Amino acid sequence: MPRSYFIGRIRTPWDSRLLTPRQGRADGPVCHIEIFEPWVAALEDVAQFARLEVLYWLHLSRRDLVRQSPANDGAARGTFSLRSPVRPNPIGTQIVELVSIEGNMHSVRGMDCLDGTPLIDIKPDRTLFSPIAPPQPGDFQTS
Ligand code: SAM
Repeated sequence: MPRSYFIGRIRTPWDSRLLTPRQGRADGPVCHIEIFEPWVAALEDVAQFARLEVLYWLHLSRRDLVRQSPANDGAARGTFSLRSPVRPNPIGTQIVELVSIEGNMHSVRGMDCLDGTPLIDIKPDRTLFSPIAPPQPGDFQTS
């Protein structure tokens, strides 16, 4: 199996976690997603999608908290009940509006990560796709 690796880097105006939005907004600033070779050619046909799902690695996060209190209100909650960046594998996901693609650079609105955050993947927004057929009972059984 090939090892996992980052395919690009996200450029945003934010260099402080405290100043970074907790969730991106469609009216947020234009941010830039830089794609590394050999994946630039994989941008072909992406421009037809108005919305993209971006997956990124929240690289400065702690990864050791099973319960946490992100609001610092004294109420600890289970990590998997939260969208906190503090998680065992700190993957962030966001639906963004595509502004333009030029060369190896996407311009988008709606990001909520620090400048320099590593990029894992880009996909068309899943709500733009219909299932081929409605799921049937037993479809998701594995054994
Ligand atoms: N939209 C994503 C999600 O729901 O999966 C991420 C949401 S997370 C609450 C966004 C917060 O993570 C930001 O407000 C900032 O505090 C923090 N953050 C952003 N980029 C980060 C990075 N590269 N490393 C660690 N923390 C980061």
